Amino acid sequence: MSQIPVAKPVLDEREVEAVRRVILSGWVTQGPEVAAFEREFADFVGAAHACAVSNCTTALHLALLAVGVTAGDEVITVSHSFIATANAIRYCNATPVFVDIEEHGFNIDPDLIEAAITPRTKAIICVHQVGMPCDMSRIVEIADRRGIPVIEDAACATGSEILWKGRWEKIGKPHGDIACFSFHPRKVVTTGDGGMLTTSNPDYDRKFRLWRQHSMSVNDTVRHGSKQVIYESYPEVGFNYRMTDMQAAVGREQLKRLPEIIARRRELAAHYATELGDAVGISLPVEPHWARSNWQSFCVGIPDHCDQQEFMQLLLDRGVSTRRGIMNSHLEPAYHGAETHRVAGSVKNSVDAQNGSVVLPLFVQMSDRELLEVTAAIRDSIALSTRAIAKAG
Ligand SMILES: *Cc1c(COP(=O)(O)O)cnc(C)c1O
Repeated sequence: MSQIPVAKPVLDEREVEAVRRVILSGWVTQGPEVAAFEREFADFVGAAHACAVSNCTTALHLALLAVGVTAGDEVITVSHSFIATANAIRYCNATPVFVDIEEHGFNIDPDLIEAAITPRTKAIICVHQVGMPCDMSRIVEIADRRGIPVIEDAACATGSEILWKGRWEKIGKPHGDIACFSFHPRKVVTTGDGGMLTTSNPDYDRKFRLWRQHSMSVNDTVRHGSKQVIYESYPEVGFNYRMTDMQAAVGREQLKRLPEIIARRRELAAHYATELGDAVGISLPVEPHWARSNWQSFCVGIPDHCDQQEFMQLLLDRGVSTRRGIMNSHLEPAYHGAETHRVAGSVKNSVDAQNGSVVLPLFVQMSDRELLEVTAAIRDSIALSTRAIAKAG
């Protein structure tokens, strides 16, 4: 029996041909393909500006620097996220302040934000976890009232949508101040590695472009095309956070496929919801009426009488790969020191989501028959579970 994976990127000859074209052009790093990918991505999400970078972690770093986060500041976010979210805050020598996620969902609980704000709070990073949009109207209302910028960690949310003032809009317009995307193979579209920053603020966009290339005053394309000799200068310390033209060429092909990718992902998610609707103890992800997920991951709560590791092993024995629920950064050794972060109130829902949920296989190439194999294996595994779940107190 062949193993059903959790995820699989959608790549074929079209991407190969795009990379081939770039390689043979002789211009392989940040250049015309990156510029074209940025324009096409900005059009797709409806943003005024889009700036490509090496990955979403570096995008988050630049976003935090752009809104002025420096040493000693605090940034409110969730522990329940891939560790890159919190790490980017620490790159700025600032302190991540972790608030809990909602009880029925995997996103920041807007009700907890206000109490976590202190005079040192310089930004809020909300995470559109597994592609499900955060409640942006509530988050932005609080942030605006308190004068705090909002950065959206949209790593998983390319193509997700939100009902905003009566209209459906793409995540990344952005609804906060800056949105950061990832093109890692585990996300819905990929460039191998890659990231994108979108904003309406031209000043932020100018900073991203400067900092991603060592703060060099003249970029390579301008210098290359100039009839005059130009000396560049370096007014401040920047980074090498560039995307290559080979990656951007792949990204442009992926963007063309995105509507199809999302349509199939939504079909599979709906199929899971129907098939698992009556599976005792399984809690399905909730899509609020104002959100449309891209279903980057389909993460379900497992029955209380099931131990996560045993449950995942039972599934694996039946040929079904899964992953545990989204990690909690504050539980990792890199966050053991008291100086590394602050936890604002209880993070019980975050810990329970890590230990009490599993990510099911969902990828475009997955057949309806494979999906039924997964749901059958889930029913078997529920019946065969012998150990109780380890819950947070
Ligand atoms: C994947 C991911 C990141 C990191 O993205 P990279 O492109 O791999 O740097 C950050 N935040 C979240 C929520 C993610 O899922």
